[in-house]
Order: sequence, then C-alpha cells, then structure tokens
Amino acid sequence: MQNKRFLRTSIALVLSAVSGWVHAAEVNVYSGRQEELIKPLLQQFTAKTGVKVNLITGKPDELISRMASEGRNSPADVLISTDVGRLYRAQQQGLLQPIDSPVLTSKIPAHLRDPGQQWFGLTVRARPIVYVPGKVDPSQINRLEDLADAKWKGRICIRSSDHIYNQSMIAAMIASIGEEKTLAFTKGLVANFAQPPKGGDRDQIKAAVAGVCDIAIANSYYLAAMHDDAKDAAIAKQVKVLWPNQADRGAHINISGAAVAKHAKNKAQAQQLLEFMVDAESQRWYATTNHEYPVLEGIAWSPVLQGFGTFKAEQLPLQQLGEQNANAIAIMDKAGWK
Ligand code: FE
Repeated sequence: MQNKRFLRTSIALVLSAVSGWVHAAEVNVYSGRQEELIKPLLQQFTAKTGVKVNLITGKPDELISRMASEGRNSPADVLISTDVGRLYRAQQQGLLQPIDSPVLTSKIPAHLRDPGQQWFGLTVRARPIVYVPGKVDPSQINRLEDLADAKWKGRICIRSSDHIYNQSMIAAMIASIGEEKTLAFTKGLVANFAQPPKGGDRDQIKAAVAGVCDIAIANSYYLAAMHDDAKDAAIAKQVKVLWPNQADRGAHINISGAAVAKHAKNKAQAQQLLEFMVDAESQRWYATTNHEYPVLEGIAWSPVLQGFGTFKAEQLPLQQLGEQNANAIAIMDKAGWK
C-alpha cells in the first residue's frame, strides 16, 4: 500500500516535472520584424539552447494592440520591434516588464536601451541622406536642417509622415533643437518635396535614380539590401550616402529592439533569448545578413555598410524619441506632411 502510493506519487512527480520542462522550454515571440529577417536567428537559438520558439509576426502596432486586449492571458513572452517608438508605446501601455540582466546592460550602450530596463536595442539603423552624384553637390549639405533650404525645392523624396521612422526622426530633432526650429525645418522640407509622399524607403531611392528627385531619405539597411539584390543593385550603385550633422549632434539613428512582456509565462527563456541576440554570433548575423549596425562593440560591419563610410551617430537617449512622438506628429501635421 505504502509502496503503491509512493509509486503513484513518484509517477505524478515525474510527469509534472516532464510537462513542466516541456512547458518551460519554449518562448512565444510577437515580432514586428518580417519573418525572414528574424527566423534564422531564432532557429539558431533553438539549436543552441533547446528552447522552442513560437513566432507570430505582424504589424507592430497590431501586435501591441493584441497584447493589450489579451491582457493577463497574452501568450506573448517577447515583443520585437523595428523602432524604438513602438517599444516606448508598449511600455507606456504597461505591456512590458523590467529585466535585470548584467549581460544586456553591459553589452548594449546606455542610450540604446530603456533606463528602466523595459526594452533593449538589438541593432542600430541609421537614416542618412541618399543623393544622386552629379545632381547634388554634397558639400552643400552639412546638416539635415539644410534640406529646408529653398535651393532643394522639388528635389526631395521621403515617405509619409504616418511612418514611425519619420516620426522618430522629427522627434529626435525636437529633442535636440526644440519644437520651434523643428517646425521651421519641417515646413521647409515639405515645401521641397518632389512629390506627395508615397511608398517605402526603397521607393524613395528608386525615385531619385528615376529622376523624380535628387535626394532621398532612407534607412541604411534598405540601400544596403538593394546592393545585394540582383534586380536593385544597378539602381543602388547610382546613389551615394551623405552623413549629416557630423559637426554637431550626429546622424539620426534608431534601433530594432526587444522587450519582455508584462505577463510573460516564460520569463527566463525570454531573457535568455534577448541575451542570445546580443552575443557575438547573433550580432555578426545581424550585421552581415540584415545590414544593421551591431550594438555590441567589436563586431565588423557588413562590407556594404563599410562602403557607406563611418559616421558620428546621434547619442540621444532613445526613449526621447518615444517621449516626443506626439509632438513630432503634431509638427508634421502643421507642416502639411501627408
Ligand atoms: Fe524597415
């Protein structure tokens, strides 16, 4: 009798340990990054740790709304986003939790992560000026602010103000030079548009090469990816990168980043995944495959990024891009940026 009970208890313990292990050895990721830009890295994580990754990809704002409506029952453990503005939104909605990780804080520079430890930059992307040589004398542009000059009338292509990349660029400017100067710049920039904003960053570069405009603003990895892409390489070769604000605050940058969800059921695995993403191998993968700048010191840039040249990057604590997002949208509206 005693033995039987002991046996039953033992079997129950073993079963719960096994199911506990099966449950614990997975992590659910909500990713605002496209699947092909993240999945190979997640597969490497599983191969290395045995932790299964369940990936759900979607539009970042939709994933954030989904987490909010799921509340405590949300299966999300990790949120991945391609812009700090969205991580900040998730944080403001109380959807994230702080992670105390010496690995993350030692590897990621302070301005690229939340001071409250709720989100972390995994890669850096820059938003330089792209121009058509022969049509633009690069010595005439030293600062992003110079693009408001009337001499660029009808010569600038940039995507819509709805997009977070532009909102963050304007938010950073507000944080650096104030609302009044930023509004004046934004009005001047809009007055210089070659066409009403349409398409994504790649489309702006293509429009410049097609002669619609002479200057485009686009994230660094889009132009880098075009160099790698058989059908776009010839277009990419016809433009050059210009790094503005090198004598003052540095060129505008943003991050792709990640955070652990407030109601994460697999918090340890979530933290493990974030830490994996900043190890040397993952950072090298990001640099070579996605053409993003590593956050980890000492990792070589991709040859294409090296070809764009070194530059001084903005050092602004990135949460300020989130803090100024509403002001940025208001200014862009006021300036008539569609
Ligand atoms: Fe992008």
